[in-house]
Amino acid sequence: MMKTLEVDLGNRSYPIHIGTDLIDQPALFNACEKSTSIYIVTNTTVAPLYAQRLTKTLETFGKPVRTIVLPDGESYKDWKNLQLIFDDLLKFGADRQTMLVALGGGVIGDMTGFAAASFMRGIRFIQVPTTLLAQVDSSVGGKTGINHPLGKNMIGAFHQPAAVIADLNTLKTLPPRELSAGLAEVVKHGAIADEQFLDWIEANSKTLLACDTDAMGHAVLRSCEIKSAVVSADEREGGIRATLNFGHTFGHAIEAGMGYGEWLHGEAVGCGMVLGADLSCRLNFISKAEVERLTKIIQSMNLPITPPKFGAERYMELMQVDKKTEGGQIRYVVLEKMGKAQIKSVPNAQVIETLAATGAA
Ligand code: NAD
Ligand code: MG
Repeated sequence: MMKTLEVDLGNRSYPIHIGTDLIDQPALFNACEKSTSIYIVTNTTVAPLYAQRLTKTLETFGKPVRTIVLPDGESYKDWKNLQLIFDDLLKFGADRQTMLVALGGGVIGDMTGFAAASFMRGIRFIQVPTTLLAQVDSSVGGKTGINHPLGKNMIGAFHQPAAVIADLNTLKTLPPRELSAGLAEVVKHGAIADEQFLDWIEANSKTLLACDTDAMGHAVLRSCEIKSAVVSADEREGGIRATLNFGHTFGHAIEAGMGYGEWLHGEAVGCGMVLGADLSCRLNFISKAEVERLTKIIQSMNLPITPPKFGAERYMELMQVDKKTEGGQIRYVVLEKMGKAQIKSVPNAQVIETLAATGAA
């Protein structure tokens, strides 16, 4: 089974292929035909699972194929480990026609993308996302980068991939907690852009959690359609792209407040959406019943729905450093109705009510 959708960005357009056993199909990697050499960038967890198969596929192009294996974890998404990619590229004679292939989750995708954006002022790369979060979110849209000790994703570039190849079978080896974290972003896509999709997610939560291929295929496809439509309309986040951050302002505060790594990003976003929904209700957009419904859907994905109790002051402080802050004003993504989001400045008093009502304060 395979479905292909095209991300429409003029001369930077690219296909997203979604299906089973795609990493074994050379035709999908045909962007490599014009390359002088190919470097797979992956990590110590993913390499033993999939690097050999992908190498075999890429060797059919008759170019040298090398693998760069980075340590596994968000804490390695930094300058030091980015440099390891450049070290190998230079050591083995990579040039402007070299192709990078990111094989892994969002950390590998973001780092490889940034390496591709900056190596010799920009080379091409292909995304082979192997986590659900990477398949439905991070591999699509062209945001790349690394973390700074003072802030997540603070150093980066926009750089679109030449192709995204989402092999659903790779999700079978994913730890259940990582799968649930990815499902948070799937729920988010339904909540902000497509109420019917949210209905479908609600009806299929069990098959999704069981990683059923057909259900997962639909969830990944619809998520990529929604995300790529938003990205095509607003590539550099001047406006509507920010609606993809629903649940993220509260979520980032949870992640940062707990200490990064304690909660997975998707877990924090899932819980953040509960707060975002409560806030939307306080602004008289969605009903209490709709807040409860969305909360239940998030809970059904085995995601936390009760935020850590940091207190209102600490939350406001943590949210202030969020990138969406403009001139000191925090901007929130709220649900105008189920399936439609908007970005709003909200009086602190109302946010504090939400924090109190949801157990955060
Ligand atoms: P991750 O890349 O850390 O992967 C999670 C874990 O799963 C890791 O231990 C990884 O080695 C392991 N793994 C990956 N594939 C596997 C597989 N098939 N089987 C078994 N284990 C596997 O985390 P993630 O959730 O994929 O991505 C999070 C990152 O993505 C963050 O750094 C975040 O900032 C970034 N992100 C970027 C964007 C964007 O637009 N660029 C969007 C969302 C998130
Ligand atoms: Mg996210």
